Amino acid sequence: MSDKIQAIRGMHDILPDQTPRWQGVERAFRQVLAAYGYQEIRLPIVEKTELFKRSIGEVTDIVEKEMYTFDDRNGDSLTLRPEGTAGCLRACLEHGLLHQPSQRLWYMGPMFRHERPQKGRYRQFQQVGVEAYGMAGPDIDAELILLGRRLWKTLGIEHKLELQLNSLGTLEERLVYREKLVGYFRAHVDELDDDSRRRLETNPLRILDSKNPNLAGVMQGAPALDEYLGEESLTHFQELTRTLDDAGVAYTLNPRLVRGLDYYSRTVFEWVTTELGAQGTVCAGGRYDGLIAQLGGKASHAIGFALGVERLIDLLADPESFDGAVCPHAYFIRVGSLAERSGGLLAEQLRDALPELRLIVHCDGGSFKNQFKRADKSGAGLALILGEDEARELTVGVKNLRKAGEQATLKQSELIPYLQSLI
Ligand code: ATP
Ligand code: MG
Repeated sequence: MSDKIQAIRGMHDILPDQTPRWQGVERAFRQVLAAYGYQEIRLPIVEKTELFKRSIGEVTDIVEKEMYTFDDRNGDSLTLRPEGTAGCLRACLEHGLLHQPSQRLWYMGPMFRHERPQKGRYRQFQQVGVEAYGMAGPDIDAELILLGRRLWKTLGIEHKLELQLNSLGTLEERLVYREKLVGYFRAHVDELDDDSRRRLETNPLRILDSKNPNLAGVMQGAPALDEYLGEESLTHFQELTRTLDDAGVAYTLNPRLVRGLDYYSRTVFEWVTTELGAQGTVCAGGRYDGLIAQLGGKASHAIGFALGVERLIDLLADPESFDGAVCPHAYFIRVGSLAERSGGLLAEQLRDALPELRLIVHCDGGSFKNQFKRADKSGAGLALILGEDEARELTVGVKNLRKAGEQATLKQSELIPYLQSLI
């Protein structure tokens, strides 16, 4: 016997017993996003490698070591998207969507990063991304945070997530800060790890983003960015925090929060939990005004966030609560050849009349006993039973599978109103 082929490490199947909770969570996303007027955009999974290099930045974990990059048959370098912001902006520029004064968009789908697989960290994972274009003021920053909070509320996990907030200021402000930071880390170069030493030359802010616990001490003493923010950046940030205060959103100011990607400016934020071990960031985002020009567009404004759906699902207190909505209403038992023929037709009539009805028709024969077992296992609330007698007499047996009680007999013509009252 030949070996079975297995899925790629870090890329997971979502099996039917899990899909109901995914669907439940996806429904919640759609509902909340619609409540704020965000529109869905669907994007390719593969883009030109250049797009990610130019947007995410050459000196980032993603571009340096996590991308799935390959040459296609024409020799073009392509990459499986590691995140959605770059592709979303590319599409908006390509189709002139940014000519509108403002845009509110979202997307959902798989992202790919060649990381070391572990709980909450996969090579293919699902993100929901939310992006808003064309708006400079802090009110849109606040809206994205409120939208996030509403989502956690809808899913019943708001008490498990804490909001961390920082402002990275403008590019000019960051350059001044960068000098100070490099000076500090040069003086403490012995305490840095190899990655951080390398970053000292290329992207020193990213050192603050390091996950190496041995660096905690040296990080503590590092200068904080907020002392280098100018008047406008400070006002922008204060207005944001004031709006959050007004709305009763709790947050922690974290001056070391810099985010992994190059393209952020001003507001950055993360929703974190202590319940998922090292993979505690469920949702992360920020303002990235500079990226539009960097990708060849006319300078404008942009802010967004992405959330990891696997991590979010791991946080659900009661994932089974999503499952009920997809159980079949009824399981159709058919025994005998006449019952099979007329039962199949009857089922189609029921589906014509009741589009919301979830009905499984038993296929492949078997005894009543065997079919009842399957009906029970399917999770259906009701069995519809058709034997040769019922088929001839144009009746149908009906039995509640979740409550003790007798089987009743209905005329087939009574079945539609009967089922209608149940769904
Ligand atoms: P981390 O610090 O955990 O590596 P990140 O900063 O690389 O995250 P982002 O690029 O900001 O992550 O992606 C947004 C969200 O997507 C993360 O907060 C997380 O929930 C999720 N995410 C990122 N990488 C992975 C992964 N490899 N597997 C599962 N979820 C992920
Ligand atoms: Mg990462």
